[in-house]
Parts: sequence; structure tokens; C-alpha cells
Amino acid sequence: MIPVFELRRQYRMIRDEIDLAVRGVLKAGHYVLGPNVEAFEAEFSAYCGGTFGVGVANGTEAIQLALTAAGIKAGDEVITVSHTAVPTVEAIKATGAVPVLVDIDPQTWTIDPAQVRARLGPRTAAIVPVHLYGHPADLDPLRALAERHGLALIEDAAQAHGARYKGRHVGAFGTAGCFSFYPTKNLGAYGDGGMVVTNDRQIADRVRRLRNHGQAARFEHVECGMNSRLDELQAAVLRVKLRWLDRWNQRRRQIAALYNRLLADLPVRCPPQAPWAQSNYHLYVIEVDERDALRAYLKAEGIGTDIHYPKPVHLQPAYCDLSPAEGQLPVTESLCQRIVSLPLFPELSDAEAETVASAIRTFLENRK
Ligand SMILES: *Cc1c(COP(=O)(O)O)cnc(C)c1O
Repeated sequence: MIPVFELRRQYRMIRDEIDLAVRGVLKAGHYVLGPNVEAFEAEFSAYCGGTFGVGVANGTEAIQLALTAAGIKAGDEVITVSHTAVPTVEAIKATGAVPVLVDIDPQTWTIDPAQVRARLGPRTAAIVPVHLYGHPADLDPLRALAERHGLALIEDAAQAHGARYKGRHVGAFGTAGCFSFYPTKNLGAYGDGGMVVTNDRQIADRVRRLRNHGQAARFEHVECGMNSRLDELQAAVLRVKLRWLDRWNQRRRQIAALYNRLLADLPVRCPPQAPWAQSNYHLYVIEVDERDALRAYLKAEGIGTDIHYPKPVHLQPAYCDLSPAEGQLPVTESLCQRIVSLPLFPELSDAEAETVASAIRTFLENRK
């Protein structure tokens, strides 16, 4: 069996470091916010090239709180993509703003700056590019649009820890960058976690306040906030794992290069690689005809796959009231029918990747 993703191999490799860190927190007796959260905020924001980091409960609330701290409120419009994980859009709705969903660029599968420009209006207040699969969106044209029109630019970097745009780690290019530390992300906790990274002290201060019931000081509630705190156990685990992140991302890139090479002569489109982008290969997603038949064949061969994501947000029952109706985002809609995510995690062996690639070859050659 070759799973599409699994975490036990990683824990086996770093068990001593993790167990030590966890025992340290258990003994210290301080469990929500605290010294590990503070240290991790400093370490991870510095890793992203940002000045401030504020740990929160998950990636969804990182996006919600970053938008709120940037002044986004009910009635505003926020432009993002439909080809994303649903939480991107859920977080926008949680601020009271209206998500405006645009199509992706067929070359990069990320937000198309031309589509953003076309949807700008008097109520547009923010743009939320998603670095989907760990491949950075084209940030420079978005930054120019945001500056010219006075918009917030909030990166959804939940899949993009350590991915680079024009040589620099993502997360600190706009008003704020939002990360998830859900266990399956490239930097994953053993539970939920998230962070807002920013160079803007006011945004950082406001997120810090909002995440803890709107308190400016203990029992001094200056606005209505929420409970979105990061806990010490997760922060201690994340501090250990941050030291491994570059090695793990490097190994993911190696496996991706191997897949690229082994699939090069097959009727398969390998993941996009824009000239500005160094992906962290959160996922290795190919585009192929007869995707469902291929998945069934691989499953029978003991190879796990997944689809990220089978149904775009604007076609989900909860979001069909949003403006783009079925048929209006053709690149997104056609891609969702044709993509499949192959097994990829740092502990996957070359031999396993070769087995996956040769099974794909066998399937496609027998179909001809
Ligand atoms: C995982 C993810 C989120 C949400 O993060 P959670 O920590 O699960 O709340 C948001 N956007 C994208 C693109 C994601 O992959």
C-alpha cells in the first residue's frame, strides 16, 4: 500500500525531539498562549520575512482575523478564487463581507490578476490570493492593484509554508499572510493551529486582541473579539518541526522532480511551475483525461490518491448564492473534473514514487 499521505513515518523519525518538547510543556503547567507560542510567533514570522506573528487557533480564523484587523466589514467585497479549500471563502463570509469569486489563470492554477481587475468595484475592499498546492500566486500585479485602489492584500498561505515568490518566502508580501498548521500541512501541529504574519504593527496588535476576547489588557475588553488562541503543546511541536521544514520541503521538491521526469512523455499535465514560483509541493496535482478511471485503477493497485478539490466553492450548496453561477468560471470548472493528487510527503521513498509513476504509465498505455 502506498498512501496519498501519512504522518506516522515522520513522527517515528523525530519522536525523541517531539516527546521532549511535549514533556517540557506538560511539566511547565502553562497550556494556552505562553512562552512557546511567543517564541514560535517570533521564529515563524522571521522565517517568512515578516516582522510580527500572531498565533491563532487555525488557518480559517487567521484569514478571518487578518481581514477584520485590516478593517474589512459587512457589506465590503473581497475578491478570491473558487478553486480553493472552502475555508478561504468561509473566513471571508465570517467577517460579514461578500466573497467575489473569480477564475484562475489556466497556466498557474492560481488567481488571475486580469480577472481581479475586471471585478474591482466601489465596494471592493480586499484581495485574497491563495497559494494553492504551495505554488505562489503572482503577487506583484496584485500588490500594484491593491496599492492603486487602497485594498488590503491578504495571502492565504495555508498550503505554502516555505514556498518562494521571486526568491522570498511567501506570507509577508501584502497586508498580512495567513497560515494553517493543520496536521497535513507542510508545517503541521498535532492538532489545530494557525498564524497571521504581518509587517504592520497595528494589524498585529489588533489580531492579538481579537484572538483573546478583544482584551487590550487582562479584563479590559475594548472590542468584541473571539477565542482563537494557539496552545503551548502545538507551539512546542511546531517549534521542533520548523527546524525540519526546509529539509522536508527540499525532499518534496525532489520527489516532485522525480514524478515530473517519470511522467514527462505521458499524456499528463504535471503541476504548473511559473517563472516566479518555487513551490513547496504541498500537493502534487496532475491533470489527466479519464481521471476517475485512473484513480480506480491506482486504488486497485494499492495506491492512494485524492482530489483537491472535486467541487469548486461556487458550486457548493452553502455558497451557490454567491455571484458566479455555474458555467461562469470555466477554467476552474473544467480543471476540477480533471485533477488528481498523487502520493507526496517527505518520507515517501523514490521506489514508491517510481511504483506510482509506472502504474500511471501502465494505465495510460493500455487505454490508447
Ligand atoms: C487548510 C486551509 C485553510 C484552513 O486552515 P484550517 O487550519 O484548516 O482552518 C484555508 N485555506 C487553505 C487554502 C487551506 O488549505
